[in-house]
Amino acid sequence: MRWRLTISVAAAVITTLAAILVTLRLVLGGILEADLDRDLSQDAGLVSARVALMGSLGDRDRLQEIVDSFSSGGLSSGFLVVLRDDEGEVLASTPGVDMQQLALEAAEVEAVLGGETQHRTVEVGEGDKVRLRTSRISIGRKVVGIVQVAEDAELATRPLGRLQTILVAEGVAGALLAFLISYWLARGAVKPLEEVIGVASEIEASELGRRIDVRGSPREVQRLADTFNAMLERLERAFQQQRNFVLDISHELRTPLTGLRGNIDVMLMDDQLDADTRSHMERMSGEVARLIRLTSNLLYLGHADTGRELDSRPVELDVLCLEVYRQTKDMRPGVRYRLGHEDQVTVVGDRDLLKQLILNLVDNSLKYTPEGGEVSLSLFRDQEQARIVVEDSGVGISPEQIPLIFQRFYQTEKGDRGSAGGAGIGLAICDRIARSHGGEIRVQSEVGKGSVFTVVLPLNPDTAQ
Ligand code: ADP
Repeated sequence: MRWRLTISVAAAVITTLAAILVTLRLVLGGILEADLDRDLSQDAGLVSARVALMGSLGDRDRLQEIVDSFSSGGLSSGFLVVLRDDEGEVLASTPGVDMQQLALEAAEVEAVLGGETQHRTVEVGEGDKVRLRTSRISIGRKVVGIVQVAEDAELATRPLGRLQTILVAEGVAGALLAFLISYWLARGAVKPLEEVIGVASEIEASELGRRIDVRGSPREVQRLADTFNAMLERLERAFQQQRNFVLDISHELRTPLTGLRGNIDVMLMDDQLDADTRSHMERMSGEVARLIRLTSNLLYLGHADTGRELDSRPVELDVLCLEVYRQTKDMRPGVRYRLGHEDQVTVVGDRDLLKQLILNLVDNSLKYTPEGGEVSLSLFRDQEQARIVVEDSGVGISPEQIPLIFQRFYQTEKGDRGSAGGAGIGLAICDRIARSHGGEIRVQSEVGKGSVFTVVLPLNPDTAQ
């Protein structure tokens, strides 16, 4: 928009200047030419008067004298005279003029003798242009011959040329100035709009409380900002309601689900359960655990959007991994699930969130690994960081999908996931938790072979030593 405005204004200025230039050329050119013709008419009058004094055109020498007295310097004087008899034959002329170029045709001779005065621009010598006036000479009432007078045509066009150079130079400078001014003005006009766009594109779901402030901008931009702000307000309210709804539901579901799981676990302690019932109940316990995890994820999501602070304290990751392992080991009896390498590591962070992070990763690996596959959970302590590695021999993720799986509500096509269910928020939460602890999650995966999810967390500086 800025460039379009700038270019339009500059184009308008250039067109106007060009139009002025053309008009000036036409009008001034006409005036100057008329002036020249008037001069020529006077000169022709003087020559004719001198010739008329002679009484006849008989004495060629006298005629040449008259011609020379008007154009003594020859062509270079810029003025030339030609005298012809009533047949058009040359009687006397300014020396050095090529008569071919001034030749008159019979019809022209007749027309001129009949009283017509001709004006035309002809070339004489090498590229010298002259304005030529041809008229008749009368002595008394008798038409005796023809007089041609000519003057350097550039006398008329030279000032025009100079004017044109000045105008073009001024035009270029003017266009440049117009270009700069209009660019500056257009920038001023577009800037508030860019501000609106900038703020609008920065606002994320977690910042719907932000408003666009464009005070001092043109009224139209302020109205745009007001409309946008009103929309943000409605959005914020809607988001708030949705968040509260999710939080309320998750909260309401959590208590009965925890109770349900506790009861199932108590029932599982009964030694007299037959193997079939035990297997069913273990599966029920696993499913209820997953539901509890889902509600925890939703609760975390709701709280994270409101910018809740971390409850940071030292966390023994090895103990945490063991806890997660115990809690998940019966989830998929058909999958070989084991604890891998376990270093002793302590980091500073929010225990509940870190547990949720590991649980989500393990849950996914178990979910996306078919019967007979393997899943392992390991913990390494490196120089500066702790590495939690969840490895599986499951369905894997294609390279194009890897950057997408951390987005909220992103799920690969159902076909890939078999019957595994989910809401597509687990990894988004994992990523958020890892980043809020100054860490990150790395993924290596190959479709059909399996995946390795690695959580890297900075070590607590005190225990790192
Ligand atoms: P979901 O609730 O669908 O599991 P997540 O956010 O946890 O949501 O995961 C997003 C997507 O990433 C999943 O739909 C799945 O396709 C893919 N995914 C996550 N973990 C694995 C894994 N270990 N193996 C294969 N695919 C996975």
